[in-house]
Amino acid sequence: MTDYALRRQRLLETITTEAFIATNWEGSDPVTLRYLSGFTGEGSLIISRDHAILLTDSRYTEQASQETSGLDIQEGRGWNGQDLVDGLTQHSLTQATFSSIRASVYWLKELEKLGNLKFVAEKDPVSQLRRVKSPEELDHLRAAAKVADAALAELVPWIKVGMSEAEIALQLEMLIRSADAEGSAFGINVSAGANTALNHYNPFHHAVSLKPGDLLLLDFGANVKGYRSDITRTFVVGKPSARDREIYDIVLKANCRAIDAVRAGITGIAADAVARDLIKEAGFGDNFGHGLGHGIGLEVHEAPSLSPLSKDTLEPGMVVTIEPGIYFTGIGGVRIEDDAIVTETGCEIITAFPKEELISVG
Ligand code: ZN
Ligand code: ZN
Repeated sequence: MTDYALRRQRLLETITTEAFIATNWEGSDPVTLRYLSGFTGEGSLIISRDHAILLTDSRYTEQASQETSGLDIQEGRGWNGQDLVDGLTQHSLTQATFSSIRASVYWLKELEKLGNLKFVAEKDPVSQLRRVKSPEELDHLRAAAKVADAALAELVPWIKVGMSEAEIALQLEMLIRSADAEGSAFGINVSAGANTALNHYNPFHHAVSLKPGDLLLLDFGANVKGYRSDITRTFVVGKPSARDREIYDIVLKANCRAIDAVRAGITGIAADAVARDLIKEAGFGDNFGHGLGHGIGLEVHEAPSLSPLSKDTLEPGMVVTIEPGIYFTGIGGVRIEDDAIVTETGCEIITAFPKEELISVG
């Protein structure tokens, strides 16, 4: 049985209906289709104990036959509506589960109009399966981390005072795409000076240029076979101030201590608290607004979460980021982010770019 067939079988064991449907329509759900079938285009999946059907149209039929195996591929323009309903009806399937978080109200209402079927909403049963990665998925994640590390190693000596954030982001994008990657894992964040305090900064909106003394934060990743790395390193342009060094060292300690604590069995709350307590004790509790980390995989933010609000407990094979930070609005911030594969006894850190000291660039 292929990994995909195994995933489909496991999914059916977790839902209450005999069928599951998923549709990727204008980019609504590429991840579920890719995880359950390997298909990266647009279409719908119907999965039941006896059938695995991929409905798509002529733009994707050839691609579907190359990317998938063991699926009944059917071509037609009604894959997001009538064909989907007919596909269920033809196989005497009267109820189907779908992921409510990835569906639109419009799509659901259209399906309900087209046939006398019951659609059962569950938040996202496939994302629950995706939390623990297979050995092959772990290899893709390791490869994605390697591409990010190598791109950063090539980028850093090239950075000069006066370059704009956008120019650096573009160069980083070029380095990632020149490697064995599908592309960037997400929109690259290159931020300088006060912008380093903006956690999801877009350097292409209004890029500023590097000045001596600026902090420079790079938060980015690579996408290898759909799997995404996510790394942050903070640098200083020219000479660091004593204050920058002090903040960097606290964040580094929080990062290292959290890495020491992450293992199977720890809760997301407890892992977060290891870093948060250290930052609080140093007097900067109010300057660490986000959670310690999140799962990575086919999406850059997925389960489990490491945060004060987490409901998760870590298991071997989960992959999470560990990314404490300290930020001062209008002044700047420091974040250090690594990617960790959870094991029975600890974790394997797959991002390897040096972080032991605040590196000077430019
Ligand atoms: Zn990140
Ligand atoms: Zn992250």
